[in-house]
Amino acid sequence: MKLSKRVENLLPYLFVEISQKIAEKRARGEDIVSFAIGDPDIPTPPHVIDRLCQAAQDPANHRYPETEGLPELRQAIAEWYKKRFGVSLDADSEVLPLIGAKEGIAHIALCFIDLGDIALVPDPAYPVFSVSTMLVGGEPYYMPLTEENKFLPDLDAIPADVLKQSKLLWLNYPNNPTGAVADLDFFNKAVRFAQAHDLAICHDAPYSEVAYDGYQPVSFMQADGAKEIGVEFHSLSKSYNMTGWRIGMVVGNAEMIDALRRVKSNLDSGIPQAIQYAAIEALTGPQDCIQKHNAIYQRRRDLIIDILNSIGLDAKPPKAGLYIWAKVPQGYTSVDFTTDLLEKVGVAVTPGVGYGKNGEGYVRLSLTIPDAGLVKGLSKLAGWHDTRRRPFTSK
Ligand SMILES: *Cc1c(COP(=O)(O)O)cnc(C)c1O
Repeated sequence: MKLSKRVENLLPYLFVEISQKIAEKRARGEDIVSFAIGDPDIPTPPHVIDRLCQAAQDPANHRYPETEGLPELRQAIAEWYKKRFGVSLDADSEVLPLIGAKEGIAHIALCFIDLGDIALVPDPAYPVFSVSTMLVGGEPYYMPLTEENKFLPDLDAIPADVLKQSKLLWLNYPNNPTGAVADLDFFNKAVRFAQAHDLAICHDAPYSEVAYDGYQPVSFMQADGAKEIGVEFHSLSKSYNMTGWRIGMVVGNAEMIDALRRVKSNLDSGIPQAIQYAAIEALTGPQDCIQKHNAIYQRRRDLIIDILNSIGLDAKPPKAGLYIWAKVPQGYTSVDFTTDLLEKVGVAVTPGVGYGKNGEGYVRLSLTIPDAGLVKGLSKLAGWHDTRRRPFTSK
């Protein structure tokens, strides 16, 4: 048997080593609190589950769904965009439901990237942008996200020869893992840049509804001309705690949507219809669950930030998203510090370098930790001491 080069070249999954360490420690009976998992701990709202159960009883929903999703779902997505962002979308040509945003993000590489083509990918980032590019024979070009540039890529710094080979520009705000947000000025600039260099923009926006202190993230689709050159990936996963049901969507440029629909119709057979009905309920039903969840995350955010600052870490409260991006103390790499926390106080976090070279120097803590674990985790964190810091000597 001989595997393909593309599979042989796949890097081992980033966080396998840490997961193994956690599992070993737990097997030995050690008490480990994990801030490493980005998966909402709060259940899907009951009215959404009720609709799912009801739809599951209907034999019409036991059969193959259509790739393009139920017309009612596409309509519900279009109406949600109108209500939430004031963006008008044609439910037939500018909306496509997905089996989770990740599925569409991975498959759109097939629509744009030929052998040797470049996709412009932020670093650090959600790994799927670069891995999907590489799986189809393309090359990611990494745009550094740094504190100095507010974790926004410096588009003007991309070399001309790179731009000539580039087909796609990936963006993601509110950002995972840095917690950064982007405003409409940035998106307007990105659209003009893409127009000037004949690029298509893919904006990944699963955290647009997870925001704090009254902040309301904007949609890339609100930018002038966004629909002419780009799409936005979105998801019910983080907005409505539906990660396990696998449903998301992509909206925007009709040609891009059509290309993805054509690829998908050859690869998958759509989203189970009962789940589509649950998604319609989530998008059109009562929305107070969003504020309720955000209040819970905001409280956790503030508690975690306080503790991190008290043990000497530089971390600022994010305006949106599910993550705290904290600077590790001087003298540690992100992996050193992750290991130290795990060994000394039994707390698991994610090393920033797992999201790309520019994630070095940071760790990511997730806000999706239930209260019982949170209280224990905070007291464990508070017990961490920096044993590498050079002691202060007078003279
Ligand atoms: C969680 C997440 C997704 C995946 O969403 P699904 O709809 O569950 O596939 C996509 N992008 C980013 C940046 C995420 O953090």
